[in-house]
Parts: sequence; C-alpha cells; structure tokens
Amino acid sequence: MYQNFKSFLSEELASIEQAGLYKNERIILSPQGAIIKVSDGKEVLNFCANNYLGLSNHNALKEAAKSAIDSHGYGVSSVRFICGTQDLHKQLEAKIAKFFGTEDTILYAACFDANGGVFEPLLTEEDAIISDSLNHASIIDGVRLCKAQRFRYANADMEDLENQLKKAQAQRFRLIVTDAVFSMDGNVAPLDKIYKLAEKYNAMVMIDESHSAGVVGKTGRGVTELFNLKGKIEIITGTLGKAFGGAIGGFTTGKKEIIELLRQRSRPYLFSNSIPPMVAAAGIKMFEMMDESNDLQIKLHENTTYFVKGMKAAGFDIKPTESAICAVMLYDAKLSQEMATRLLKEGIYVIGFYFPVVPKNQARIRVQISAAHEKEQLDKCIAAFTKVGNQLNLPLTPSKGVRKLK
Ligand SMILES: *Cc1c(COP(=O)(O)O)cnc(C)c1O
Repeated sequence: MYQNFKSFLSEELASIEQAGLYKNERIILSPQGAIIKVSDGKEVLNFCANNYLGLSNHNALKEAAKSAIDSHGYGVSSVRFICGTQDLHKQLEAKIAKFFGTEDTILYAACFDANGGVFEPLLTEEDAIISDSLNHASIIDGVRLCKAQRFRYANADMEDLENQLKKAQAQRFRLIVTDAVFSMDGNVAPLDKIYKLAEKYNAMVMIDESHSAGVVGKTGRGVTELFNLKGKIEIITGTLGKAFGGAIGGFTTGKKEIIELLRQRSRPYLFSNSIPPMVAAAGIKMFEMMDESNDLQIKLHENTTYFVKGMKAAGFDIKPTESAICAVMLYDAKLSQEMATRLLKEGIYVIGFYFPVVPKNQARIRVQISAAHEKEQLDKCIAAFTKVGNQLNLPLTPSKGVRKLK
C-alpha cells in the first residue's frame, strides 16, 4: 500500500513546490529577540516575530521558569481533571481573568485548542455561529466541530454582519465570533459596532485576542480596553505564545458559567496535557509585570507609530494598522518574495505573504514591530526597505505604476 501512497504524496509535494507554495523553514540559532542569529551565523534584525513586548527572552520570565522547575518539576504528566492541576495553573487562570476583567479562565495547551474546544460544548444545531470571513484557522476548525448553523460575514463588514444576524433570528442562541486583530492587515475588529449589533439582534460575542492581548489598548488589555468594553464580552480566547512571553499555552476567559461548562465538556481540555509548571510560573510573573507598569506598551505604540510614519514618508503603501502589524503592500507575489530575500541580505528578517494566505494581487511584506526594537533598528529597517525598493523599481500600487522612493 505505502508504495502507491508514497508516489501520491510525492506528486502532491511536487505540485506544492511548483505552485511556489512550499514552506521552507529558516533556522534560528539564538533566542528570539530584536536581533537573532540565523543558520549561517549572521545576525539580522528580526521583524517577523509575534514577540510584541520583547518578553520571549526576558530575564525575569526565565528566572521564574527556572525556579518553577525546581519547585514544581518539569512536567505534570496528566490532564487537569485527573492529577494535572497545580497551584500555579489556578493562579495563572486568576491572573488572566484579572487582566481582562473577566469572571473566570480555563487554560489550554494552545489557543488553537481553546478555539477548537469552545464551540462544540456550548452550542447545538438549534443555535447559530456568525463568523468573520477572515477568522483564524483554529476558529474555523472549532466551528466545524460544532453542529450550530453557520453564518459568515465579510471581514469587519457591519452591514453584512447585520444581514447575517437577521437570517439567524430563528435560532435559539446566537454567537458572533471574530479575531480581535486580523493578522494579515493589522486592523482591529470594530467591536463597538459588533457589540451594538449583538444587543440589537440578541446575540453573544466571542473575540480571539491572540494578536491584540498585551498590544492593543493603552495598557495592553486588548480590544475590550480599546473600545471600553472590558467585562462585557461573553468569551475571549487568547494565547500565551505571542506577546505574553511566546512559550506555549492558550486560554478562554469570560463568563463564569461558560468557563465552568468548558471544564466539564471541552475536549482539548479534558483529553490533553496541562501546560508545564515553568510556563505557568513565567506567565504569572508576566501578568505581575503587566500590573506594575505599561512601559512596554508605551514603547511598542511609539515604535509602531514611528515605523509607519517613516515608511509612509519614504513612499511605501502601508495598510492602516491599529496593532503592531504593518502590512507593506507590494501586490505582486514574486516581488514580495524577491523583496524579502533581498532584505534578508541587508540584514532585515521579514516574510512576504501572497495568495492563498492573502487575496490574489494583495501580496505584501508583513512587518511586526516589538517593544524590543530600538529607534535606530527601526531606522535601519526603513532604510533597507527604501534601498531594496529602489533596486526593484517598486511599483507602489497597480494604478500608480512605477515610482522612485525617496
Ligand atoms: C496565533 C493564533 C492562534 C493560535 O495560537 P497558539 O497558542 O499558537 O495555538 C489562534 N488564533 C489567532 C487569531 C492567532 O493569531
């Protein structure tokens, strides 16, 4: 059997490669940070990590993790409800709820699991899920596992959301679900309007704060802070694998009864291992740091504003961003690849995104800003973009044609 399957797989792999969609992994030899060492030993400036607050290699978190290995061991070897709940897990859950102003929290091994395990226990075929068309893969998969009726609305399109809500009025319960920040454009979901529509059409709201937690809002509490809706949203999911230190772990936080039922019925929680104590301990430390100061958010917001301003002044076409994600629009897929390759030679580590990750003719380089970046590093990045852009006679938009950058 395997001989046939093997040639089938080889053909699949070849067609992925031919389509230019084969994903090669670049290897990093250093910790995550503003400067990373790549496999040829070269050091480059990193602009493609979710390390928004620069915590991935933070001393205080490393110390907390190390001491938790001594006090609580390396792993827990159990799911939560058998013997996988340590005091650290409960403390971390409480910290997350306090951070978001919610009632309770349930931890998962990853946000992929949080999203995968949230819908099916809560909703049935009598209910409706109304989902943004650009939601993360884990939300899409989670919705697939649930029998609720599915409605989809165009990205952040409130007119379409309203139409879908009207269509869903026959269902018993309605849940609107959206990413809080969309990872390819950096825009935020218009939660104020979503919330109003939810009230009008008697629906609940779920947001995934993976790219916004720690980042968006004056103190980094996410989009519920930005829109003054702290504590009002029924379900928030998020990750510990991005701004919050970047190790591993996900969570669902929100209304008490929802979290309680998830503890009883959510399959990735019931049938998968607890996060290691070192991750829980470092997470607790991280939330303590967030309580003490907003310096990292202030620096991140300053850095993002500075970078966007500089890139626009240089003539680049940047999507309006409300997060730390800056999409430098190139439109052409090949150009985005060539640009990223040349930028790496200039010591700037970025990735080009093109169809099918983004719509056709919407290729771009996604730059992710971090509180770990210093101004001169941002300047270097802008200068390298300008140099390479000029080498490539960068066409700014299809309609504007070729234009020299400043
Ligand atoms: C990254 C991401 C996830 C997955 O988080 P993990 O903890 O890495 O599984 C889920 N949802 C969104 C919106 C994300 O950006």
